[in-house]
Amino acid sequence: MPQAVYPLDSTRSFTDQQYVGHNRWHPDIPANVTVRPGDVFRVDCREWFDGAIVNDDSADDILNAPLSTVHVLSGPFAVEGAEPGDLLIVDILDVGPIPQEDSGPLAGQGWGYTGVFAKSNGGGFLTDQFPDAYKVIWDFQGQTATSRHVPGVSFTGIIHPGLMGTAPSAELLARWTARETALIATDPHRVPPLALPPLPDDAILGTLSGADFDRVAAEAARTAPPRENGGNQDIKNFTKGTRVFYPVFVPGANLSMGDLHFSQGDGEITFCGAIEMGGFLDLHVDLIKGGMETYGVSENAIFMPGNVDPQYSQWLAFSGTSVTLDGEQKYLDSHLSYQRACLHAIDYLQKFGYSDIQAYMILGAAPIEGRLSGVVDIPNSCSTVYIPTAIFDFPVAPSADGPHQVDPGMGVPMSAG
Ligand code: ZN
Repeated sequence: MPQAVYPLDSTRSFTDQQYVGHNRWHPDIPANVTVRPGDVFRVDCREWFDGAIVNDDSADDILNAPLSTVHVLSGPFAVEGAEPGDLLIVDILDVGPIPQEDSGPLAGQGWGYTGVFAKSNGGGFLTDQFPDAYKVIWDFQGQTATSRHVPGVSFTGIIHPGLMGTAPSAELLARWTARETALIATDPHRVPPLALPPLPDDAILGTLSGADFDRVAAEAARTAPPRENGGNQDIKNFTKGTRVFYPVFVPGANLSMGDLHFSQGDGEITFCGAIEMGGFLDLHVDLIKGGMETYGVSENAIFMPGNVDPQYSQWLAFSGTSVTLDGEQKYLDSHLSYQRACLHAIDYLQKFGYSDIQAYMILGAAPIEGRLSGVVDIPNSCSTVYIPTAIFDFPVAPSADGPHQVDPGMGVPMSAG
């Protein structure tokens, strides 16, 4: 096992650890561990809500999910010699759930969860169709996930970090804040909000204290969106074997990571989210001096995905176009066409006995592929969602026999609120 440079104690909260991480982006959050180019090391990560979501059959915890507390990130890690303008190479050598045989209280200890936020607290990709809070618990056996809330389905986890990135410079942070607050100003009372402005409440900023803490808490960016530094990209193919090239904006690069997922469908459409868990990452880092200029990576990380995907060879695919459910034609709206493709798949799976929310959870958690199939054929974009047929323990393609009926099981918990 690589040297554990960032151990977390599963019995203690995020702020009660040997190293206290952070849940905001800011250049002045001090690095709490220094590594060198060429180093291999292990980092433990907490589940993104730091244990607020529990293994039970109620979705009240999702309804009341403390959104101001996310994402709890491990780091920052300073990389010796890294300077603005470099590219930071990060290899994901291994990634997995909390290494513990017995099921414990933390997501990652043999189980994980997928939630759908209520429209009033977070919302999501299909929040108009699913305005309430829901939760599914997934059990892990080796690399396989199954759920007491979703019968007839099992799949191989494509384990990956949802979030990893370098610290922004002060100038880059100011740009983020300016453009996101301008967006919010176009509809400041929208539910769910258009973006999340800086919020001092529940900010965790590593070792900062006093006046520095107050200043940084007021300025720091929230971690929900992906940005130029990588961040919460939620790319399901960041599996073991991935190499990422991050732009460096501050001395030391100040790399941070978290939000581990046991599995996820493209788009993480359920928002809360993939199959969320705590766990570990084994990383190797190196530098390409001046690499941002050399390779034209002025912003946004590039990466080479891992090659340990589950080997699914047959898919049932659903398409959607940029026409609203009310029949209104939109112009090449690929977000809408992906929604329509997903709604199409949800309608189809209900013919097999699933509830609409069970089908939605399958699309959020299983390794489905989402594609922009056509973006030029005016006025309709065409998005497609590919579902691996082997995740079902019955034939899922249309046939003359008609749809097999699953035992509905106990169903997906909904919040009492
Ligand atoms: Zn996540």
